[in-house]
Amino acid sequence: MRIMISADMEGATGVTYTSDVIPGTEQWQRFRRLFTGDVNACIAGLCAGGATDVLVNEAHSSQRNLLLEDLDPRARMLTGRHKPLSMMQGIQSGVDGVVFLGYHAGAGADGVLAHTYLENSITGVWLDGVPASEGRLNAAMAAEHGVPVLLVTGDDQTCLDAADYAPQAVGVAVKECVSRYAAICLPPARTADLITEAAREAMARAGRDEPSTGPHRIEVEFDATHLAHAAAVVPTVELIGVRSVGFDAPSMTEAMKAFKVVTAIASGAVEGIYG
Ligand SMILES: [Zn+2]
Repeated sequence: MRIMISADMEGATGVTYTSDVIPGTEQWQRFRRLFTGDVNACIAGLCAGGATDVLVNEAHSSQRNLLLEDLDPRARMLTGRHKPLSMMQGIQSGVDGVVFLGYHAGAGADGVLAHTYLENSITGVWLDGVPASEGRLNAAMAAEHGVPVLLVTGDDQTCLDAADYAPQAVGVAVKECVSRYAAICLPPARTADLITEAAREAMARAGRDEPSTGPHRIEVEFDATHLAHAAAVVPTVELIGVRSVGFDAPSMTEAMKAFKVVTAIASGAVEGIYG
């Protein structure tokens, strides 16, 4: 049984603020240890549940956050940026299940450090008409490869979101959202136990499904008109409102590639102060 962990940082134990997840800051140095602790707790549970190989794909920011020297030796780690499938690189390698660890609520939703891909500028994303977090988008890509989502960890809002897009997955709330920048946090000694037990339990669901293929539509709303205009330069992407664009793609993988281009072009068009 080969399992992949897509590891994001905003939903890690104790994380509640920008500097906690911005590479190079003192707080980031502290929280990357807690983040690594969450990942190790997950690996321990997956292996206890029968996993024979665990691939950890770093999915946050520079994608150089986890401490390889502290990683459970039963796992392998994909680190670094510029991966064709971004947060989901590795999903195409024949894995039997995927874990969304340290995930967070989507842009415009309630949740600690809620956003979808861009930390700001995007106020909402819809997948086939449904408000979509990174988790929902990535779950659709996993489904296209026949890979079930086994476990999702993050704040309580992340777990509520996951219960809708991956009802078969086990959820672990490592913190309770109070605001976008505040949460009631459990200490790592407690979240590690919760994550390990949930991962072990979640392995019961591991095993490939029939791939769910087909076209998808993504719509993106920005907080400023010029960002939508910038994104609409991308072939197949159309303006659908003063601050919104939409596009259709023949598969979820193609949709996410187009989404990546849209976010890259929009973020390049953001100006200081006025955005
Ligand atoms: Zn994220």
